[in-house]
Amino acid sequence: VFITFEGIDGSGKTTQVERLCARLRETSHEYICTREPGGTPIGDAIRALLLDPESVMTSLTEAYLYAAARAEHVQRVIAPALAAGKIVICDRFVDASVVYQGYGSAADEVTPELVWALNQPALQGILPHVTFILDVPVEVAEQRLNARSGMGKKDRMEQRNADFFRAVRSGLNQLYEQDQQRMLWLDATGSPETVEQEIWRIVSQLING
Ligand code: ATP
Ligand code: C5P
Ligand code: MG
Repeated sequence: VFITFEGIDGSGKTTQVERLCARLRETSHEYICTREPGGTPIGDAIRALLLDPESVMTSLTEAYLYAAARAEHVQRVIAPALAAGKIVICDRFVDASVVYQGYGSAADEVTPELVWALNQPALQGILPHVTFILDVPVEVAEQRLNARSGMGKKDRMEQRNADFFRAVRSGLNQLYEQDQQRMLWLDATGSPETVEQEIWRIVSQLING
């Protein structure tokens, strides 16, 4: 079973991935917990390049770098784990590329369709069984990020404004409208505990049923 988490920055993905993995640790199920961009040594190197404020690149280059990190991740980590019967939990996946590099991108020529197409070889036919979309208004996400950034996170992505995230959020909604089989839309404005319980209700059914 392959489960991914999507949502705008600050929606609570990493918090919920950690809580879900802590719950799985208490079961007899074999699982891995991973993230994108990253999840492999090359993927982490690409992640560092993508987040580096010194990196200047075109939107198309950026889309290819996310896809390259994903190719490595799918081939070396996700596909083998699924083949071994493990549950795979991933913080972001291809939908993030479609919405951030596609819907969110300033470059008109980098469309959601183009981003989807250039990711196909990287996916090797593997798509999540379930994708949780954690939805919060942009203002709520911003408040959460401001509270989190006590550590002074500064990366390339900080030039983005609220309009960018509104475009991403609306892109997520469009993906959801297109594929309600795979996608689950969750109101993530509640407490971490409330959101965790809802996710566990669904995942425990999925892995035990
Ligand atoms: P990013 O996309 O930037 O990685 P994220 O979606 O992974 O963000 P988190 O890092 O999990 O989001 O959460 C952002 C901040 O909000 C953290 O400080 C986290 O503790 C806090 N937080 C997470 N979930 C909730 C919640 N349900 N209610 C209030 N605060 C939350
Ligand atoms: O989710 P995470 O915090 O690991 O993402 C790191 C950064 O990469 C975030 O600022 C996020 O907005 C950005 N990102 C992106 N496009 C993706 C995935 C992540 O711009 N496809
Ligand atoms: Mg996160």
